[in-house]
Amino acid sequence: ILTTNDVLNIISNISEVIETNRQYLTDLDAAIGDADHGINLDRGFKAVKEKMPQFLDKDIGAILKNVGMVLVSTVGGASGPLYGTFFMRMGNVVSGKNTLDENDIVAMFEAGLSGIKERGKAQAGDKTMIDAMEPALNELKSTLSEGRGLKEAIEAAANDAYNGVLMTKDIAAKKGRASYLGERSIGHQDPGATSAYLMIKTVADYVD
Ligand code: ADP
Ligand code: MG
Ligand code: MG
Repeated sequence: ILTTNDVLNIISNISEVIETNRQYLTDLDAAIGDADHGINLDRGFKAVKEKMPQFLDKDIGAILKNVGMVLVSTVGGASGPLYGTFFMRMGNVVSGKNTLDENDIVAMFEAGLSGIKERGKAQAGDKTMIDAMEPALNELKSTLSEGRGLKEAIEAAANDAYNGVLMTKDIAAKKGRASYLGERSIGHQDPGATSAYLMIKTVADYVD
């Protein structure tokens, strides 16, 4: 079970992790994009962090919707609307709730990922954030269905997200700026898959 306070702590931790990895994510984007992914996300999550005091009296659904709206309006690029949609869709699923159980968490992740796919028209194997998220969601569901706990399930999901990140090195980009490079994008790790992994890993590290 996650409470409103847990969700606020996780968002704050994500903001810190993005700040720590700002240069790393930007360097990954320098190789196959326009060298701004870490800068974009750090700007967005700093804006989220600044707005956090206004979220304190809100339910989890409202908090996540607000996070998504802040990201849409501050991150920019391809990833801003996509991560923004991800958080807004997650928020819609848990409107009015002050706690999240395992089913809520799966439903949120499912809705968020569907939003990204609808909005960006990409699928697994296109060398995007989806290559970290989709394996993570599948692993989360299968681990939970085996009756293992939430901590173990999110850790397993983060592990599969990381394998997805490594897999992006072996494939050519079919969506986003990196797709302009075609086959020349092979050998490089996708920045958005990497940031998605970092967020999932942050949730795994938080949950106990
Ligand atoms: P931009 O490419 O506009 O500079 P960012 O650098 O912030 O935006 O984000 C780039 C990341 O966005 C890519 O590494 C990729 O993971 C993700 N991305 C780009 N296009 C799509 C898409 N259509 N669907 C899903 N993810 C995408
Ligand atoms: Mg970029
Ligand atoms: Mg850009």
